[in-house]
Amino acid sequence: MARIVMKFGGTSMAGIERILHVAARVRREADAGNEVLVVVSAMAGETDRLVQLCREAAALHDPREYDVVVASGEQVTAGLLAMTLQNLGVQARSFMGWQLLQASGTHGNARVEAVESRLLDEALGSGTVAVIPGFQGVSPNGRIATLGRGGSDTSAVAIAAGVRADRCDIYTDVDGVYTTDPRVVPRARKLEQVTFEEMLELAGVGSKVLQVRSVGLAMREGLPLRVLSAFEDKPGTEIVERLDEGMERNAIAGIAADRNEARVTLTGIADRPGTVAAAINPLAEAGISVDMIVHAATPNRGASDLTFTVPRASLAQAVAALENWRGDIGYDGLLTDDQVAKVSIVGVGIRSNPQLAARMFDTLAERRINLQAVTASEIKVSALIAEDELELAVRVLHTAFGLDAPAGAAG
Ligand code: ASP
Ligand code: MG
Repeated sequence: MARIVMKFGGTSMAGIERILHVAARVRREADAGNEVLVVVSAMAGETDRLVQLCREAAALHDPREYDVVVASGEQVTAGLLAMTLQNLGVQARSFMGWQLLQASGTHGNARVEAVESRLLDEALGSGTVAVIPGFQGVSPNGRIATLGRGGSDTSAVAIAAGVRADRCDIYTDVDGVYTTDPRVVPRARKLEQVTFEEMLELAGVGSKVLQVRSVGLAMREGLPLRVLSAFEDKPGTEIVERLDEGMERNAIAGIAADRNEARVTLTGIADRPGTVAAAINPLAEAGISVDMIVHAATPNRGASDLTFTVPRASLAQAVAALENWRGDIGYDGLLTDDQVAKVSIVGVGIRSNPQLAARMFDTLAERRINLQAVTASEIKVSALIAEDELELAVRVLHTAFGLDAPAGAAG
């Protein structure tokens, strides 16, 4: 017998027929003698609809009332799933976020503080399946708080940690985590295992399988996750602390692509202490996050260039800040480019094998793809390139690192 959390996303909850399918899956786990908690999302599209209603009601609305509105989608699916389970002869009941999950911080994007597990323990102890709406909790002053878009994943992980579950299974409309976006590379392969660190890098650059915060939380709690298809019975991807020993996995877990950045280059900045800080500080103050930063001084030249990237949506704001502080920073030219993209190789193997970075650069050079900036961390090497070369870059790197699925064996 195990204690398991099953989380179902919006597509799996969209309509009574699908909820019935979910209920059958939940029953199977309960019939096998497991203690089962189910965390659900609102029906697909419902939260978007509710957000839109808030905008129409009042452009500048009270975030506490926004939370009252948008949390309702999960209340509906939790109740519907509980009654569907009962109808199948499974003892089940729903709970609401305010009974279980304390959250703090900004309304609309609150953080989980604590999970009140007593009610859940009681339910499980009496053989009842607990159905829990994701995305919602209660603020310190007793108001409904939501955890940010995609927050049901974080609810599931927090609940699983709070009740010391053996497993947290995330059922979604994709069947696992892939080596890259299968829409770009049809021969992308499903990963059997990926580490938390790798997942954070892959999720941080656009793989929308899980809310990034849920991965960070699972990592801190040491709680292994599985991503599984809600529609098909096949093995998904395990997200783990460390890859199983003897696990024959590629050193590179995947290739990440990111089109959300723009490049800024300051030319001719003075070669003395404090100039980089002078350039970056105004951006930090404006709340603009700076990602890749490349700076190198050429000895005896007296001046150097500084290149970095900012979110594309913040480029105009960044330029305004840099122009405003030009006197303090001291630079000759300010160049920008928003037709750039970032391609990264991600894998725990990078830590021990410097040849992987070299292979990346060789592969891109063979295709005459120019590198505008390069950054590296322990498990990731990123290159900034022209946006119109991104798909080609992803494809050739995917092949070069041996990630392509064998012909005819997609997935
Ligand atoms: N329903 C919420 C959203 O769409 C939370 C979730 O599904 O994870 O963002
Ligand atoms: Mg989601």
